[in-house]
Amino acid sequence: MKFNKFTPIIKQYLNIKSKYLDVLLFYQIGDFYELFYDDAKKISSLLNLTLTKKNFVNHENVPMAGIPVSSSSSYISKLIKLGESIVICNQVGDYERDGKFKSKLIERKVVRIITPGTISEDIYLNEKKDNIIAAVWSKNKLDNFGYSILDISSGRFCVYELDDLYKLKSELLRTNPVELLYPDNFFRFKIIKEFGCLKSFSECEFGFKRTYNILLDHFNVVDLCCFGINANHLGIRPAGFMLDYVKYTQSINLSHINKIELGNLGRNIFMDFSTIKNLEIVDSLYGIEKNTLFYVLNSTLTPMGYRMLKRWILSPVNDVSEINRRHNIMDIIKSDVYYIRDIICGIGDLERILGRIVLKNIKVKDLLNFKKYLLLVLKLSLYLKKKSRVYIFDYIISNISVFDYLIDLIDKSIKPDVDSFDFGDFNKIILDGYNSELDGLRFLFKENKNFLNLIEKNEKKNTNIKSLCLKYSKIHGYFFQLKKSDVKLLPDYYIFYQSLKSCVRYIIPELSKCENKLINIKKKLIILEKKLLNNILDIIILNVDVLKNVFDYVSQLDILVGFVYKSINCNYVKPIFVNNSVINMINGRHPVLEVNLDFDFVANNLIFDDNIRLLLITGPNMAGKSTYMRQVALICIMSYIGCYVPADDFIVGPIDKILTRIGFSDDIVSGKSTFMMEMNDVSNIINNSTSNSLVLIDEMGRGTSVNEGISLAWACLEYIIIYIKSMTLFSTHYLELTKMEKIFVGIKNVYFDFLYREKCLILLYKLKFGVCLNSYGFDVACKSGIPKSIVKSSLNKLKELNSNKYFNFKIDKFNNFCFNVVHKKLIDRIDKIKIINLSILKLIKELELLKKIIRLGNIFSKK
Ligand code: ADP
Ligand code: MG
Repeated sequence: MKFNKFTPIIKQYLNIKSKYLDVLLFYQIGDFYELFYDDAKKISSLLNLTLTKKNFVNHENVPMAGIPVSSSSSYISKLIKLGESIVICNQVGDYERDGKFKSKLIERKVVRIITPGTISEDIYLNEKKDNIIAAVWSKNKLDNFGYSILDISSGRFCVYELDDLYKLKSELLRTNPVELLYPDNFFRFKIIKEFGCLKSFSECEFGFKRTYNILLDHFNVVDLCCFGINANHLGIRPAGFMLDYVKYTQSINLSHINKIELGNLGRNIFMDFSTIKNLEIVDSLYGIEKNTLFYVLNSTLTPMGYRMLKRWILSPVNDVSEINRRHNIMDIIKSDVYYIRDIICGIGDLERILGRIVLKNIKVKDLLNFKKYLLLVLKLSLYLKKKSRVYIFDYIISNISVFDYLIDLIDKSIKPDVDSFDFGDFNKIILDGYNSELDGLRFLFKENKNFLNLIEKNEKKNTNIKSLCLKYSKIHGYFFQLKKSDVKLLPDYYIFYQSLKSCVRYIIPELSKCENKLINIKKKLIILEKKLLNNILDIIILNVDVLKNVFDYVSQLDILVGFVYKSINCNYVKPIFVNNSVINMINGRHPVLEVNLDFDFVANNLIFDDNIRLLLITGPNMAGKSTYMRQVALICIMSYIGCYVPADDFIVGPIDKILTRIGFSDDIVSGKSTFMMEMNDVSNIINNSTSNSLVLIDEMGRGTSVNEGISLAWACLEYIIIYIKSMTLFSTHYLELTKMEKIFVGIKNVYFDFLYREKCLILLYKLKFGVCLNSYGFDVACKSGIPKSIVKSSLNKLKELNSNKYFNFKIDKFNNFCFNVVHKKLIDRIDKIKIINLSILKLIKELELLKKIIRLGNIFSKK
């Protein structure tokens, strides 16, 4: 098809589209954004819009779909959520007439590229989530990854080196990017394929020299040592590439990205993929929000505090001085919790507004809110100034004059009643009296507008045509409009402009002259008003570092005052930090379960010290094993984010990692069985844990044969207790493993206490030293709805197995004994048949014997 067959407008479109092939091009025609060809088909199917056709080409209709400019943001928002990227191409010129008074083709320009990871407008963003763009790169097809994240609103920019797949997976889960960039030869695609907006680029764009120089240029430094990053850091390539990409989409200098941080410096407690997921730290496994630790701890009142708390919970710090700092702040503000929360609750998303100011992508409403919130920050600062022992708040207090100055600036310059306008609306934003040149231009504009009205009045009088009236449209400018039937009455100097169905449009030279004057003044007004606004934004941007830090403090205060509030309401205690590798928990509770249970949560104790490094937990099904293990991990996380904890006492030493093996799932897509996944988790634990790690293994070896499972579990535990000595909680139904207590130093058997009375299993949820000899799986199965006939026949099967008929694994006497006693009772319950073999007396005797054999006793004598 020849290019000259196209109409001028579609030629202009195709020219622009050729530069943005992979993204949806929103092309403004008047009050609509139009999409053509494949873009039109795509958007109409994604958003359920009508697909139309129009003849822009000789003999060929072009598929087309349109969206009103005025409501485009809601459509864009939906597309962004679907992971689409959008190019906005606006009409930049005003309408203009050529020498023959015909409209010229309006100039159009790409003003913005919107991608899910580079948006900053509040309408597109979820205020409860960090909006992260990330890039990943791997070294020589090894599991050695460079990873980088950027939050464009706050300017937070980090690099990571991750030396195995597990760590990459964990970091991806923790940072949860909405847009992920990767080189086209990235060989671990399976790991990233679930992320929403994936974009691949040629490997050479990740070249070291190129990406390193991009970073050096941006930060204006000779190397990155000032950020603690050496030239070999694997994060340099993805970081440099991503920064370039973001600059390209925003076409603006990102001055608020003023530093690059090392993401995993060892300052945080490392939590692996399985821990973050299975402990339901921020996201629930089954979509029940109130089951997460975050939900329970969150009392924040500002969106920035909310997002920061999420980051804190996902990255507990292992630096006790930082925890002490947080505790000190909590101590100071303890007495004024309600007063502070009252102020904070009025503060909005200052962090994101500041981001929009830096990106110059701001609505007037933002500036007015900025001032409103700054006033509250000022109030907060003045309160903190009044407090004694204020050294912690020095930074905020020392910048009070900055807030004063900026509040005053916005007060003097911005009209207070313009919150619904965009910056594109000239003549409406800057206050009269702020700038004399602007005042002069506004006066001139008004005078010319009045003159225009005079022309209309005169023409109506001269022509005496009733239907004649002056009209204005964005595309056609000013014109006279009249009924078709009145055209014959028009004087000669009227020049035909346009004919519509029921009316015609004319212009006259005097009108055009006045209109041109108005256009000129308007252009000047827009330029001047934009310049003045830019100056105001630049003054704010000059203070961006101070503001960023202060808003950071405000978010911290929001979290910490929330912690105090929570601690008072939920009866938490301040944890004590020590230098040696211990955990000593007295009457600890599960923070999430205790608020969700209808009955009282049973508190439990724990001790890890030089002598006890591994607890082997047994107990009936449903006895509380998993709950207990998770509770310990959650309390550790709470301690290391600075929160108080649900216990009577909690003493904790250094923790470098929390690693877990919990739950059963498979990943058939990546070819992994349940057992393979389990083994992956365990190997991660074995390879990465240290003596300061907290390890939870909630049952192991169940996805294979019993003998294999027991043997594998035994060998792993042996390795952990001899070589690693991590603080390990291991729950199991394999009683054989409990023999390890006698063989290895550091292992202790504990179990969850219960009563079996009145043919009923009563769970006491109390942890005791010793072993529980029965899992009571049949009781649980009975309750679960499995037909009794099946349970009964399974009991018979068990008897057979216990007599070693089919089962060559030797079950020791202990076990046999236990099954005999209890399961006969169970059979009795199901069949309502009295125990035949054992007299009541004999049964009681056996029970007493059982009690003796099971070592009883609470771990701590307290309570
Ligand atoms: P297990 O892992 O031993 O099979 P769980 O830890 O899953 O058992 O506990 C099952 C249920 O028992 C929990 O969902 C909770 O309702 C209840 N539970 C567990 N521990 C306690 C406790 N300490 N106090 C009160 N209820 C508890
Ligand atoms: Mg369990």
